[in-house]
Amino acid sequence: MSKCAWVTLTTNDAYSLGAMVLAHSLKRVGTVHDLVVMITPTVSEAMRSRLREVFNLVQEVNVLDSKDATNLAILARPELGITFTKLHAWKLVQYEKCVFLDSDTLVIQNCDELMEREELSAAPEVCWPDCFNSGVFVYRPNEATFTSIIEFAAKNGSFDGGDQGILNSYFSQWAHTDITKHLPYTYNTAAFAVYSYLPAFKEFKNKIKILHFAGKVKPWLLNFNSETKQASIPPMFTHCGDFIQLWWNIFCDNVHQRLSDQMLPHADYFLQEEAGLAGALAQVRLGEPRSSEQEAYEASMRRQCWESGNIDYTGKDSFDNIWKKIQETLEMKPEAPAKSADDDNDKSSVTPPEIEIKATAQKLIASNVTTPKPARSTNKPTPQPPARQKSKKSK
Ligand code: UDP
Ligand code: MN
Repeated sequence: MSKCAWVTLTTNDAYSLGAMVLAHSLKRVGTVHDLVVMITPTVSEAMRSRLREVFNLVQEVNVLDSKDATNLAILARPELGITFTKLHAWKLVQYEKCVFLDSDTLVIQNCDELMEREELSAAPEVCWPDCFNSGVFVYRPNEATFTSIIEFAAKNGSFDGGDQGILNSYFSQWAHTDITKHLPYTYNTAAFAVYSYLPAFKEFKNKIKILHFAGKVKPWLLNFNSETKQASIPPMFTHCGDFIQLWWNIFCDNVHQRLSDQMLPHADYFLQEEAGLAGALAQVRLGEPRSSEQEAYEASMRRQCWESGNIDYTGKDSFDNIWKKIQETLEMKPEAPAKSADDDNDKSSVTPPEIEIKATAQKLIASNVTTPKPARSTNKPTPQPPARQKSKKSK
C-alpha cells in the first residue's frame, strides 16, 4: 500500500497529553501506518522530545488562527480559532493518504481500513447531520489543495469560526454526492450525549472504533485519583466511563513516565493553565499512598479542574464533603483574645457572637485562599499552581 499516516495536531502541552494517549491507542490496536503530530512553537521543548519518542514525525507548523471572535462567541469556544492550524495537514505531501484525528480522540479498535477511503471522507456531525465533524477525516495531502482552502477561507470565512465550518463549506458536496465518503458514525462517536442518544450509545458501544471527546470536557481535565488510578466519571459521562478510564489507563501505562516537570506553564498567559497541567501530572506518583506533597499537587490539579468547570460532584467536591468542611470550620473555636489584668473580674469576657462569626469567616477565607505549594527538589523550578481563570479560555 502507498505511504499513509495518522495525523494529529497540538498547540500546547495539555493537548499534547491527548496526542500522546491517542498515539499509544493507535499502537495498542496494531496500526501499520505512520504517526505524525503537527506542533506549533508554543509546545514546550520537553514535550517535543517526548512526542518524538512516540510519533514517526513531529512537524512544526505556524499558527493559523481564524480570529473570528463573533462566530466563536456563538459557539462559546473562543479557543477554536486556532484549529485553522489543522489545515497544514494538507502540506504533508510525503504521504499519499492520511487520516486526520483530533488529539481528543481515542482509537478503540484497529481502523487501518480508513486509508482506503477517498478525500474527503468523514462522519456526520451529531448536532447537524448534513455537516461532517472535522475531528476525524480522510484526505490526500496536496499543496494546491492547501492553498485553495486558505484562499477560500480568506474570501468566505468560516461559519463557526473554526476549521469545521471552513472544511464543510469547502467540501460542501460531502452532504449529497458520494455516500462512500460518509464514514459510519462508529469512526467518530461523540462521547458527550444528549438524552435521546443514550440507548443508541448502549446499542452500538461495542462497535465504536474511534471515540471523540468533543466539547469542553476533555479526559485530561477530569479528576483522577493517582493512588487508585481511577478517573472520576462525571454523571453525564457514565455511559462512556470505561472509555474515559481506558484513556487514563493508557496515560498511566505509557505516557505518565514520559512526562517531565519541565513542562511548565508557558509564558503566554492563554496557555498557562493547561500547559501547567502536564508539569503537575509529572509530579504525581501512581499507585502509591499519597504523601502530603502528592496531596498538594492533586489539590492544585483539582482546583484547575474545578475552575475549568469539571467539578468532582461524586468525589472530593461532593456536597457532603463541602458541607463537612463548612461544619468543621464552623466548629473550630476562635483564638481566645489576649487576657488583660481586668479580665479575671470581668464576667463579660465571653467572646461576643459577632467576634466569633468574624473569626470563623476569617478562617474560612484563609482556608480557601491558601493554595498548597509543594516542596520541590532544589535544582528544579517550582511549578506554580494554575493561575485563576481570567482568560478567554473556558475549557
Ligand atoms: N487544538 C489544539 N489546541 C487548542 C485547541 C485545539 O491543539 O487550544 C487542536 C487539537 O488537536 C484538538 C483540535 O484542535 O483536538 C480541535 O479542537 P477540540 O478538539 O478542542 O474541538 P472539539 O472537538 O471539542 O470541537
Ligand atoms: Mn475534538
